[in-house]
Amino acid sequence: MPACILVVEDEPAIQELLALNITQAGHNAIRALSVEQAQMLMRETLPDLILLDWMLPGMSGIEFARKLKSDEFTKSIPIIILTARGEEIDKVRGLEVGADDYVTKPFSPRELNARIKAVLRRSAPQMTDDPIEFGGLRLDPGAHRVSGNGATLDLGPTEFRLLHYFMSNPERVHSRSQVLDRVWGDGVYVEDRTVDVHIRRLRKALTATGHEDLIQTVRGAGYRFSAQ
Ligand code: CA
Repeated sequence: MPACILVVEDEPAIQELLALNITQAGHNAIRALSVEQAQMLMRETLPDLILLDWMLPGMSGIEFARKLKSDEFTKSIPIIILTARGEEIDKVRGLEVGADDYVTKPFSPRELNARIKAVLRRSAPQMTDDPIEFGGLRLDPGAHRVSGNGATLDLGPTEFRLLHYFMSNPERVHSRSQVLDRVWGDGVYVEDRTVDVHIRRLRKALTATGHEDLIQTVRGAGYRFSAQ
C-alpha cells in the first residue's frame, strides 16, 4: 500500500529528486516549497510521512517540526529532517523537537529509501513490503501473495489491498469511510457500498482455507478483522 509522503523543500531540483525517489519506491509524493504551502496541503490531506528540509524561507523546518509534534492532530506523523549540515549539534536539535530520523544532503537514493522504509515500518507497517501473518493467514506484499495455512489464495488487487490493510490493523473497528480512505485513497470518489462489495469478494476468497470469519461485520459501525 503506497504511503503519501509530503516533501517540504525549497530547492526545486532537490525537491524533484526527492519526489522521484519516493515515486520509484512505490509511494505518492506531494510537494511544498515552504512551510506555508505545506500547511495548506495538510488541510486537505494528512500525509503518512514528512520529509522536511531544515533551511526553508520563512518558518524553518525545525520550527515546523516542533509545531507539528506539539499538535494533537499531527504529532503522530513521522518526520525525517533533511539538512545540508552534518554537525552533531544539528542532529541533536532535530531529534529534540521530535523528528524521527535524519538525512544529510547530499543523500543517496538507497539511503533515503531505507530510512523512509524504517520510519514507515514503525509507524505504518502496512506501507512497507514486510510479510504479515495473522490467524493462519500469511500476506507477502513484496511477492503479492497470500496463503492460508500454507495454501495459496487467489485474490483480486482490491481484495489484496483490503486484506493487507486489515491484517496490518487487526482487532479494531474500521468504519467504511476509514476503509475507503486507507485502501482506495483520499480524493477517490467511491460509494460506501463499494466497500461491502469487495468485503464480500474477500470473504468468498477466504472460504477456500476457512478464514472468512476473520472479517467480522460490526453492526452500525463497520468491520473488524479479528481472530476472536
Ligand atoms: Ca533549503
